Amino acid sequence: MCAFGIMLVYFDEIPPLGRDFSWKIAACDADASVALEAPLAANCHVRLIEKDKLEVAGLLQGVVTLDCDRCLVSFPFELNSTFRLTATVRAAASTVLQEEDQDIGLEDLDTIELDAPCLDLNELMRQQFLLALPQKRLCSGACVGLCPHCGTNRNNSTPCDCAQKTVDSPFAVLARLTGGKAK
Ligand SMILES: [Zn+2]
Ligand SMILES: [Zn+2]
Repeated sequence: MCAFGIMLVYFDEIPPLGRDFSWKIAACDADASVALEAPLAANCHVRLIEKDKLEVAGLLQGVVTLDCDRCLVSFPFELNSTFRLTATVRAAASTVLQEEDQDIGLEDLDTIELDAPCLDLNELMRQQFLLALPQKRLCSGACVGLCPHCGTNRNNSTPCDCAQKTVDSPFAVLARLTGGKAK
């Protein structure tokens, strides 16, 4: 099932004041390691700023379930991604401009180039979804991960006893010599 299906917007169907789109994305096929807690809410306002140039202001919200990179326990992550970008139709070969106007004063907008005056909003959301996921997935900044010896989750209140077994460090030996009364 293709959850981020196809949702095409044709440039010549956009009214002068633009058009709003709101829809739900019910399942996630963009990243197999991510599960949705509930359908994602996608919103876009699309307007033509030139004949072949579309501006898209969008919002993607929802809660997904990620697996912690350290302890592997799943945890909820709130997605709240706003974006604004322009989509232009790739110029025909005969009208390609040279890179002469470097100081054209482009705003801080991402631009995507299209082969035809038609934009797939769902593909756009799929990309924004992937961009919105954290690089490092941690259940908590304080997550101490799994015990490298036995695999026990060290965040649990009952830790494994591997630490005791491996404390034959000079300090442990010293503690024994002083009868545990080092203080
Ligand atoms: Zn964790
Ligand atoms: Zn252990």
